[in-house]
Amino acid sequence: MSQDLRTYLDTVKQNNSEDFLVVSREVDPAFEITAITVKLEQEAKRRPIILFEKVKGTKFPVLTNLHAGRSRLAAAIRAKPEEMQRAYLSAMEKPIAPKIVANAPVKEAILTSEQVDLYQLPQILHHEEDAGPYITAAISFAKDPNGGTWNCAYNRLMIKSRNTTSIHLTLGKHLWEFQRIAEAQGRALPVAFAVGVHPAIALGCLAIGSIDEDERAIMGGLLGEPLELVKCETSDVLVPAHAEMIIEGEILPHERTAEGPFGEFTGYSLGEREREVLKVRAVTHRRDAIFQDISVGHLDHLMLSTTPIEANLYRAVHAMVPSVKAVRIPAPFTVYVSIEKKTEGQGKNAILAVLGADLYMKHVIVVDHDIDIFNDQRVQWAVGTRCQADRDVMIVSNVGGSDLDPSDLKDGVTAKMGIDATAKPLLGSFTPRHRVPKNVLDRLELKDFVPASWLAQRAGKR
Ligand code: MN
Repeated sequence: MSQDLRTYLDTVKQNNSEDFLVVSREVDPAFEITAITVKLEQEAKRRPIILFEKVKGTKFPVLTNLHAGRSRLAAAIRAKPEEMQRAYLSAMEKPIAPKIVANAPVKEAILTSEQVDLYQLPQILHHEEDAGPYITAAISFAKDPNGGTWNCAYNRLMIKSRNTTSIHLTLGKHLWEFQRIAEAQGRALPVAFAVGVHPAIALGCLAIGSIDEDERAIMGGLLGEPLELVKCETSDVLVPAHAEMIIEGEILPHERTAEGPFGEFTGYSLGEREREVLKVRAVTHRRDAIFQDISVGHLDHLMLSTTPIEANLYRAVHAMVPSVKAVRIPAPFTVYVSIEKKTEGQGKNAILAVLGADLYMKHVIVVDHDIDIFNDQRVQWAVGTRCQADRDVMIVSNVGGSDLDPSDLKDGVTAKMGIDATAKPLLGSFTPRHRVPKNVLDRLELKDFVPASWLAQRAGKR
């Protein structure tokens, strides 16, 4: 299987050409790329992969909205859309270790020291309040300064000068941990970023688990073969050989710079903060590299990020409550879980499993297996009719959480809430739901009682 972005794009062009849109007319990277993506989604109800061939101020074409379709994402990991979570879980269970290769198309052009100029890249402004141009599709590759553990993550980069960006490290997450270890030793943390990758690599990078779990091996599990890596020009960091572009650098110790505001997945533009500084040492890329952008806060971003979180939460709840049925993230920081409760207390066990398995998740609602968690109204019905707040709601104060939550008073410190909306003690012994006898429903035909003309007339109206 080919593990580069362009081969994947060719497959989409061949099999689902309506899913791929080329914009040949020149666009301004200031807002126009996001604007066209949003207008297509809202006005035309379309969400294709979009390639902007001519972007003002740069030679690089820009690709965005790659992840905005569930069937596209599923195809990238060789799964049907409805089997995506299972495919993701099996890659987590059977990771494939990466391998180092000699053939690396990402080295076709190598720019080091004075040749590095981030202003040659597309200077994309996504939303009105953004503090500057951001690189949103950069996947970090870094190693524990004290050991052999590798980590991959998405980190937003704000272009600050020819060779400097700010970097947003989520408080308490793995790359932040590595950086703090290096910083305590007074050292810079070498890191490199892949921009423009096969969607299986993007999905694998977002795997949530222990710091010891190697996202590169989960990428391999998703690709069905070892991820091919090559060494950086300016450090020992290993990066995907088939990426479109690599940005090599190091996060400087004890340096901070102003970052943000930036419009995020929460739907809010979050204010300016002091963040870490990335010094860029080299940029390598394919001769005709495509620069990938992620339309932050839109489907491109949300569909990509929820799949790995849901898979991890399913895994975590399953370890505690084996009869878990489904997990869904309907809104930022919010999880619905349905379980077939077999013994008293499992609703709260499921809540604890979720809160113990993910930093970002803040509100957990657990329902019985008769509730369709893809229907918000049914979930609310369960909360309304099976829950007593003093008995079934648990709140934990001052827990580490996302530092991108606009409602917290201190960045990264939050309250967590679980709502056990399962029937107590068990669904089988709970007050029965009202029912019209099934044999009567089966026996009656509406047409025998209601004129056909009346039925036809009302169809489609409310
Ligand atoms: Mn990790």
